[in-house]
Amino acid sequence: MKKHFKIAVLPGDGIGPEIIDAALRVLDVVAKKYDIKFEFKHGLVGGAAIDERGDPLPEETLKICKESDAILFGAVGGDKWDNLPTDKRPEKGLLRIRKELELFANIRPAKAYTPLLSSSPLKEEIIKGVDLVVLRELTGDVYFGEPRGREVRNGERVGYNTMIYYEHEVRRIAKFAFEMARNRRRKVTSVDKANVLETSSLWREIVNEVHSDYLDVELEHMYVDNCAMQLIRRPKDFDVIVTGNIFGDIISDEAGALTGSLGMLPSASVGERYAFYEPIHGSAPDIAGKGIANPIATILSAAMMLEITCKLPQAARDIENAVEKVLEDGYRTADIWSPGTKKVGTVEMAEEIIKRL
Ligand code: NAD
Repeated sequence: MKKHFKIAVLPGDGIGPEIIDAALRVLDVVAKKYDIKFEFKHGLVGGAAIDERGDPLPEETLKICKESDAILFGAVGGDKWDNLPTDKRPEKGLLRIRKELELFANIRPAKAYTPLLSSSPLKEEIIKGVDLVVLRELTGDVYFGEPRGREVRNGERVGYNTMIYYEHEVRRIAKFAFEMARNRRRKVTSVDKANVLETSSLWREIVNEVHSDYLDVELEHMYVDNCAMQLIRRPKDFDVIVTGNIFGDIISDEAGALTGSLGMLPSASVGERYAFYEPIHGSAPDIAGKGIANPIATILSAAMMLEITCKLPQAARDIENAVEKVLEDGYRTADIWSPGTKKVGTVEMAEEIIKRL
């Protein structure tokens, strides 16, 4: 069994360095407990990389990523870089990593933690027991389609993008979804807009073709607008939701909001060779540097890394159980705090989790 893992660590901007530091503390403890070794290599990305190297994804960072078993990423972006042209902005660094490493599947679990049920915007009886995963295709769709641009036509400014999917892109994410469902509750909901978009009618056709190899998994198709509604009305009914890049971007944030805080939600993006782990939230510039950011999303992302890259599902469960226990014991960062619970900062939250490992 592999015992030595090279991890590229890209903290990025805003709260990125604080939450990554918390996750590394937890990983150090796990490494000792499971007798494995992590070799962490830090790289610049996003605004921090623009400031130092004039590029949101410098070549040396990409090289570190490509020489690693996994990448642990904080977040990028902030007001300071908001006025740069689109291809020079911090977020471009993230999009380029996803494309360069062929990370085609983004996995975003949304699970309702019993101690946090009251922080959900939904009624407790609706949110209780929710345990779903949004699987978002990452390399295609309107975010990468050509032609794209802005120009002036007939004296008026226009902006345009191209929504496009290749058959092989839909096939591999559909296969991924069915495989994942086999390890869960064996249900896949494929989300599209096939009543209006040709891209979606192809999507649906391919998903149906792939399904013929997975008839033990239930498949339903749902239009994205209906899915947005059903996620609020009956979120418990979903197991694996598979969808394209732009619909997935929105649906996964909605699914995340169901359970309470952005600060609780981990994610993984995986390809054939590389895997990339990051919290779903952004760089939270409004609270950066204050030591109050919730590190749980990043710590749970590290847990996904232990399961998917390091093949240590038990270590992942240990972290998840420690997080659950900390919440049961009443510890909360400011974003999930409610009267009667104990407010702690980023470092204290990490320490409380470590104590329970
Ligand atoms: P955001 O997720 O950074 O913040 C939204 C709100 O949630 C803020 O009030 C923030 O304080 C809070 N929040 C987020 N994470 C938190 C945490 N761990 N603990 C406590 N509170 C938390 O989204 P935004 O404000 O729309 O974007 C800020 C910047 O982040 C922008 O530059 C945006 O482009 C960028 N962004 C980056 C990523 C990424 O790197 N993957 C994703 C989304 C947004």
